[in-house]
Amino acid sequence: MKQPKRGKGKKRGYRIAVLPGDGIGPEVIREGVKAVRAALGRIGATPVEFQEFAGGADHFLKTGIDFPEESMKACRDADAVFLGASGLPEVEKPDGTGISLAWDLRKGMDLFAAVRPVTLFNSRITPLAKRKAGSIRFTIIRENSEGIYASRYNGTLLHDEVAVNPMIVTRKGTERIMRFAFETARNSPGAPADGRRRLTCVDKSNVLVCWAFFRKIYDEIASGYPDIEKDYRYIDAMALHMVQQPERFDVIVAENQHGDVLSDLGAALVGGLGFAPSANIGIGRAMFEPAHGTAPTIAGQNIANPIATILSGAMMLRWLASEHRDASLAKAAGLIDGAVAAVLERGKVLTVDVGGKATTEEMGDAIVRAIEK
Ligand code: ATP
Repeated sequence: MKQPKRGKGKKRGYRIAVLPGDGIGPEVIREGVKAVRAALGRIGATPVEFQEFAGGADHFLKTGIDFPEESMKACRDADAVFLGASGLPEVEKPDGTGISLAWDLRKGMDLFAAVRPVTLFNSRITPLAKRKAGSIRFTIIRENSEGIYASRYNGTLLHDEVAVNPMIVTRKGTERIMRFAFETARNSPGAPADGRRRLTCVDKSNVLVCWAFFRKIYDEIASGYPDIEKDYRYIDAMALHMVQQPERFDVIVAENQHGDVLSDLGAALVGGLGFAPSANIGIGRAMFEPAHGTAPTIAGQNIANPIATILSGAMMLRWLASEHRDASLAKAAGLIDGAVAAVLERGKVLTVDVGGKATTEEMGDAIVRAIEK
């Protein structure tokens, strides 16, 4: 890929670096690209070019390299990155860590904010009783660069007796995630229960100074957002309340690991990981991926649910639209969201994970048909 010009203005075309990865990654990303292409075509939007790059556990087994320099460079140079999923349980690097292109991209491109929308599209696919489509709709903002995971490659094991991982919470890192979360709340339609725009700060500030500091900075930044309702939960209570009263939540901000765990709980409320899209946002750079992993037990069977990836594709178009003030891309994103909602609301085409019979490809085709209608 040639070096594109960075900048905020509308471009004549956009370039997406695509990393299919491992396991179900290539299967779901195919459907994601298909849906994005269909929406762009239908709108007659600014052209978007997709170019695939190598990386992941399979690539590591073949070459000894998990993330080739050429692929990382292409991701940095692209307008956005679209990732399937990467890593396989049995494949480890010499230092014993697993392979994750997502982790490397978050670090390499300083993608400090993970955005994880949780939306219920059909009452039949939630394990909760009496919940209508749209009654659960909140967004988790997970701090992506600090917290307990910041020491991922730097823990210490002393004499096979004591293991230590420090937790990192910085003022700079916390201020930027809080601003990002408050801005997200400002642009949200509000919680389904009462339409109020609120930002819930999740932590365990009664136990560790790191989390108390996280909450302190939440309060400091909150003073600049008087229009957003403040809300606090300890992580343990949050796990309870997300199940008991999910309709009360609008936007949630949490430390890295807390956000990681809550994202899976959120996905479980709306049908599982196959419905969990995500964005990883930095300054002028972003990567979009389903929140799930490579699900090796169902890989290669054409049965994975591609909706998380397709919705991540819509998030990518919406982010590009706002970065470049390009309304055509926002329209295309809206088409994808509308098509997914329409297909799931009808409920005739559902994938195996929620009791349906549709293959990965058939679900993608159904969404493309809804886009083209
Ligand atoms: P990682 O640690 O790499 O993030 P994970 O713990 O989130 O991975 P996954 O590999 O994503 O785990 O999958 C866990 C289980 O969820 C899988 O075994 C699979 O049954 C289910 N699952 C995940 N994604 C999908 C999908 N897109 N469609 C259907 N089922 C899925």
